Amino acid sequence: MSRLAIDMGGSWLRYELVGEEEACGKRPSRDTELAAFIASMIAEHPQIDAVAVSFAGQVHEGTILSAPNVAVGEREIETFVETRFGIPCRIENDLNCAALAESVYWNERELVALYSGTGLGAGVITEGRILHGFRSLAGEIGHIPYKEAPFACGCGKRDCVELYASGSGIEKWMAHLGCPGRVDLAALRRSGSPRCAEIAGAYADALLFASATAVTLLNPKILVLGGGVVRHNPDLVDQIRKGIGRSALAASCEGLRIEASRIADASLEGAKLLLDTMER
Ligand SMILES: [Zn+2]
Repeated sequence: MSRLAIDMGGSWLRYELVGEEEACGKRPSRDTELAAFIASMIAEHPQIDAVAVSFAGQVHEGTILSAPNVAVGEREIETFVETRFGIPCRIENDLNCAALAESVYWNERELVALYSGTGLGAGVITEGRILHGFRSLAGEIGHIPYKEAPFACGCGKRDCVELYASGSGIEKWMAHLGCPGRVDLAALRRSGSPRCAEIAGAYADALLFASATAVTLLNPKILVLGGGVVRHNPDLVDQIRKGIGRSALAASCEGLRIEASRIADASLEGAKLLLDTMER
């Protein structure tokens, strides 16, 4: 038998068939409806006996609540798979999956994974378990109020820290200030334009604000920084290490480690960990 792990991200859907015939692949998220994809995989591989999904959106008790970057058809994913195919399914927010994978990688039970990619999000592990909150919305750090921006966030508000400390935020500032080129912090700093260079400075300040907020509010033993923007700018991790003491509560910084993620696709790894916890 084999089990299907899926990471439905904002840009790509990646999957891995875990079992006798290991196989993996990826396809653009925008062309892929999740339930239809799962059905096609099960039709192709009838030996699949469990499915776990890491999903870039808000998920509560097996149901997709919202997804800012992904088109959604069927929302009741767990019920769909379980009733249609008679096999267990679990779906979990992608940052929660990433945090789960990070906690196993670092062997820590008190951990925050703060990822800055297209968006800014956090997954929280406390006492070795994912912190969900009432409607599974804990850890939505990208949407805490920070500073008023001249444009709106995907959530509709205009003061989210994600508007400063994420790839999509950088893109919005570049469009607003007329800065050409790709979303690239180093290129912005080198651009020779003070207002474009300031986007990179504002990004670093906002990431420090989010890091200090996470550390002060959640008191992790380890803060793991990841996501595409951090991966492409590894110097950011050192900047956060140096700056955290002046932004977070001093007592919360005692014994704290700040590390860069070392997992290539932590969300997919987290989905595989979900498979391990499922009864079949
Ligand atoms: Zn927002």
